[in-house]
Order: sequence, then structure tokens, then C-alpha cells
Amino acid sequence: MCGIIGYIGKTNCIKKVIEGLEALEYRGYDSAGIAYIHNNKLVIKKEKGKIENLKRIINYESTTNICIGHTRWATHGKANKTNAHPHNVGKFTIVHNGIIENYMELKNDLIKHGYIFKSDTDTEIACATIDYYYQSEKDILKAILKASNKFTGSFAIGLICEDDQNTLYAIRKSSPLIVATSTDGNFIASDVPAILKWTNKYYLMNDLEICQITNDNITFYDNNLKRITKDLKTFEATFSDTSKNGYEHFMLKEINEQDVVITNTINNYYDGTKKSLINSFGFMNIFKSIHIVACGSAYHAGYIGKYLIESYAAIPVTVEVASEYRYKNSFYNKNTLVILVSQSGETADTLAAL
Ligand code: GLU
Repeated sequence: MCGIIGYIGKTNCIKKVIEGLEALEYRGYDSAGIAYIHNNKLVIKKEKGKIENLKRIINYESTTNICIGHTRWATHGKANKTNAHPHNVGKFTIVHNGIIENYMELKNDLIKHGYIFKSDTDTEIACATIDYYYQSEKDILKAILKASNKFTGSFAIGLICEDDQNTLYAIRKSSPLIVATSTDGNFIASDVPAILKWTNKYYLMNDLEICQITNDNITFYDNNLKRITKDLKTFEATFSDTSKNGYEHFMLKEINEQDVVITNTINNYYDGTKKSLINSFGFMNIFKSIHIVACGSAYHAGYIGKYLIESYAAIPVTVEVASEYRYKNSFYNKNTLVILVSQSGETADTLAAL
């Protein structure tokens, strides 16, 4: 899971993007980078390893009103500086979360059209595909859409185009991306913690919707490039709820907060009596069987769920690994409840099973 943040606005662009990336550190990463426009010229800074390494080479004083940032979790190519995002090809610079599954096929076509690649990433291919379509379409939105319809796999993309330096573009399919608005600028981000220091107002994007963002305007388009409106949502938790809260890193925070989190969760259902537990499973009574589908630790958590449900709801439960479940023949009907568990909400096999 990588982290994306982009900001377009009047104040402290670079600082905001770096702080946003730091708030996304919990997602894990191997390299980090940013891109911004300074004096009409594109600047890209990236480094292998921690955000601290990136911070050492950044000039916060550089004036800019648009910046995109990324923490990478390598899927295509080594974790090194060349493969780190952002990637620039032609007129476009992008950050990407996800996997373009047909990148090899696209790459071979692009090479025939004269494109040369510096990195081993699928992301650079995605960027070149958008640039390729822009040459014929001469329209950024159409180019993004045409390219995205060619991609198979998952992607959340934040993008800057040299020909429209005061606009940030974003599109997503099966990878997370939110759009947020504040009093002095607008954001894109992989997750809410990235923007909570400045705003808790955000929009959710559906698959293959495109967003066009300026300092003071956010416009959404559907997959036919028709303008659409969206509900503005409010995130209720505070910055400290989602930050490291004084712990050195997020895993330590998670380990140390287990007792509080488990107590708070169970107390919603349990008043100290067995009856309250039985009642809390009551809503399941309409089902005859239950499948819990998950990967890794979530799969093991599924076994705790199995024992609880079988004890208190008396319904048979099977726990299955999502990467198998997505391909095998599964037997369910309208009396089967399927529960999919993912810690991140982004586990690819679990989403595919869903
Ligand atoms: N597939 C891309 C890469 O390897 C993006 C990985 C990510 O989501 O961080 O660069």
C-alpha cells in the first residue's frame, strides 16, 4: 500500500505534502518523492528509504502552488531512487498506487511509438500511455480517460500536466483516493489522515471517475466525461486519533493500543452477561452458513470470529483464504453470509473475492 497526497493552494505547498506523506507512513513504503512546478518548470525530488532522506534534499522555500507526493511500496522493479515516484513522461508527471497488470503489453506498443523508459515500473508506462493519448486527443481529461480504459488492474493516480500547471487531476479504480477541500486549497490523498491537519471535509470517488482540481474549484466527471456532483463528507476523528500519538512507529502504537481498542469494540456489544453476546449475534439468525474470507492476520482473526459466531449464534462458519476463494468454486446461496475481512481495506485478493 503506498501513499499519495497532492495539494493545490496558496500556502506552504511542499511542507503540506511532506506532512501529508508522514501521516500516511502507517501504510508502509520503501521510497518517497514529490513533484512541483517552480517558475513554470517541473521539479522532481525523490529518494530511497525514509521520508527523512527526502526531506534532506528538499528546499521548502521553493515557491509553488501545486505539489504531488508519494510513498512507494514497490511492485514492479527494485526499491530504488529511479523507480521511486513521481514519474515524468512527455508532458505528464504522475504518482500511482496499485498495479497496471497489462503494463508489458502497453510498454511494447509504446516502444514502437518511440517512447524510452528510465524505470522498471508499471507507473511510468501508465504515464506514457496518458501522454500518448494526449498527443492525438489534445485534451487532458480525454487522454486520462482513454488511457485508464486501457489499463487492467488497480490504480489511484494523481497527475500534473505541463500544459495546465494550475490544475491537479486524479482518477482511481480499485485503489483508494479521496479528494479534500480546505479554506486555502484542495487535496487528493490515499486516506483521510493525510489531510486531517488542514481539513476534515472530503469527497469519495467511484471507479473511473475523474477529478479536476484547482485552487478554489473541484470538478468531478463520470466515465463519459459528464460533470457529476458529489456529497461532501465530514471525518469525525481528530488528527491525534490517526497520528502516531507519540509512539516511534505505527506498529508500536497498534500493539500498545490493543487492550483499549479491543475493550472499546467489545463494550459496544457486551454488558458482562452471556445474554448480551448472544443478542449481539442475533442479526445473523437469518443465515444458514457463514464464510469468512481474508488474508494473513485477518484470516487468523477470522478464526476468532468463527469460534465466537459458532458459540453465540450457533451457525456453522468456514474461514477461507481470499487468494484461493477468488478462484475456487464456492457454494453459497441467499442463506449464506460472506464476511470479508481486511485490515487495510485494500487487500487485493480480498477485494477480488468480494
Ligand atoms: N506499481 C507501482 C510501482 O511499483 C506502484 C506501487 C505502489 O502502489 O506504491 O512503482
